[in-house]
Amino acid sequence: MSQTNPTIVRTRFAPSPSGPLHVGGARTALFCWAYAKAHDGSFILRIEDTDQKRSSDAACQALMHDLRWLGIDWDEGPEFDGIGGGDFGPYFCSKRLDIYHKYIDQLIDEGKAYRAFETPQELDAARSDAKRQKHNYRYDRSALKLDQATIQAYLDEGRPYVVRFTLPNDEPILVRDEVRGEVTVDPKEMDDFVILKADGYPTYHFAVVIDDESMNITHIIRGQEHLNNTAKHVLLQDALGFRRPVFAHLSLIFNPDGSKMSKREKAKAARKAASAFLQSKPTEDVEAWLSHLTSFDMKIGDLVRNSQQRHLHLYQEVEHLFSPTDFRSFLDGDTDEPGIAHLIADDLGVDLPEIDVQDFRVSGFLPQVLVNYLALLGWSPGNDVEKFDHAFLIEHFDLDRIIKSHAKFDRDKLLAFNLDAIQAMSPKQFHDLWYAHCREYHPKFVEKLSPERFDMLAAANQSRSKTLDDTVKSSQFFIMADDAIEYEQTKAVRKALCNGDPSGYDHLAAIKPLLADLTDWTKDAIEPVVDKYSQEHANGKLGKVAQPLRIAVSGSTVSPAIFETLAILGREAVVNRITRCLANRQQFLDTSNA
Ligand code: GLU
Repeated sequence: MSQTNPTIVRTRFAPSPSGPLHVGGARTALFCWAYAKAHDGSFILRIEDTDQKRSSDAACQALMHDLRWLGIDWDEGPEFDGIGGGDFGPYFCSKRLDIYHKYIDQLIDEGKAYRAFETPQELDAARSDAKRQKHNYRYDRSALKLDQATIQAYLDEGRPYVVRFTLPNDEPILVRDEVRGEVTVDPKEMDDFVILKADGYPTYHFAVVIDDESMNITHIIRGQEHLNNTAKHVLLQDALGFRRPVFAHLSLIFNPDGSKMSKREKAKAARKAASAFLQSKPTEDVEAWLSHLTSFDMKIGDLVRNSQQRHLHLYQEVEHLFSPTDFRSFLDGDTDEPGIAHLIADDLGVDLPEIDVQDFRVSGFLPQVLVNYLALLGWSPGNDVEKFDHAFLIEHFDLDRIIKSHAKFDRDKLLAFNLDAIQAMSPKQFHDLWYAHCREYHPKFVEKLSPERFDMLAAANQSRSKTLDDTVKSSQFFIMADDAIEYEQTKAVRKALCNGDPSGYDHLAAIKPLLADLTDWTKDAIEPVVDKYSQEHANGKLGKVAQPLRIAVSGSTVSPAIFETLAILGREAVVNRITRCLANRQQFLDTSNA
């Protein structure tokens, strides 16, 4: 076994590759990384794939990609994108089975662990019995009563078994935690827990203890949900004569409304959208919709055809088709399958709350902003400092400023941080980033704009982009056919078009020929024409003219600055759209009065 100087800080992030990296995991990784870097130590990535059924290579690759995107590079770990490797590998639990077995044998030989041959059915029955009698289930240690000959006979016949750790005694287990202080756990809350599963893989509890010791981990920083597990880990460490690392358990992350931030929120949001959509639909339509959703291959085809690749990666992870029964159980709230949530959301055109790192990337948050924000979830540098970069974090991070109370995930604050960071960029930086984002997630949008128009739009959108994605959504009218613009039926639209004398519609009718006659179609040429018109016909109130123009060309009251908007669209589109808006006047009045 390799050894390092015990005074050198070594932290590790040990995700299970069973799904995307969520904000909680990313925050843990960040704190481990920052602590190691702040103390000239090493940050290790270890993939805990002890649950073979739930682990996948795709999830592993995705989470390494997410860490790299966040700038959380590992000094040791799986090799990926030019980093990784190291002297303490393998860095996948599934490749360390011989190491675990050596220690399992040692514990059995020392009488500190034993094989147990009960079948899952027998254990389930015992658990149900305990439940009926209203007491907590604890394994009854029947296996300890087996004599050597019986054990050998079972082994010879190839009977499956697990290995259980023998709890040493009933004395309270003391864990010293850097965040929570001294924590005492009552061993009566646990039993002789399994350390080796019937498939020959260690349980998480066993693998983590062996790996942390053999990789010389000095500091274990992880989520509070592991605090009770830590009690098991210290018992194992003592039984094996291992060193005790420093523990720091990070508080949970909550939404501002006090609910726990979890991936279930995506399911909840998708169910809400589905139930609004299905509310008044007859049964046949519901059936038709469900079978449309189940045609998974078609969905992939549609996404590619429409170049809506935002969530393609999520579908690709789910390699099977969902059946109508899967959708039904999802809609009934029996499952929260994220793949189904995304399918429904995409089909209905609704956004789901961002929970996983990849959600934030797709939504156009900047990695440095997300890192900055994640660092504040349970830590603060003091002196009211809130905005900082990776270098600042490395310089200032320490465990003594980790906060014990729950962290609150405030999306508005994150959006405000992102907006500020976008506004602080040079126009070129924003252009390049926006272009890369659009190419990746909205290729059709880029293809439909000429390079000059794309550049103009990037310049016009920078100051109003909270994320790289929101202005793509609100800029769709730039690439639409003139006759595809739909006018929003809102009070604001109605007011801008219909109120006053002259009304917005009247202004549109009057200004249309002035714009149509303009030979030089640039912002600098359009601006004086509209200004002069509003001086002469709208008491100098530019808004009275600009807002109807904005609605005519975009269908809504939201767009980049009006002169830029008109310049980017081009004269022909502007005139066509004004003509169409005017032609729609009566119909609009009828429907908005209805
Ligand atoms: N695989 C565990 C998890 O993802 C690791 C916990 C730990 O850091 O020990 O939660």
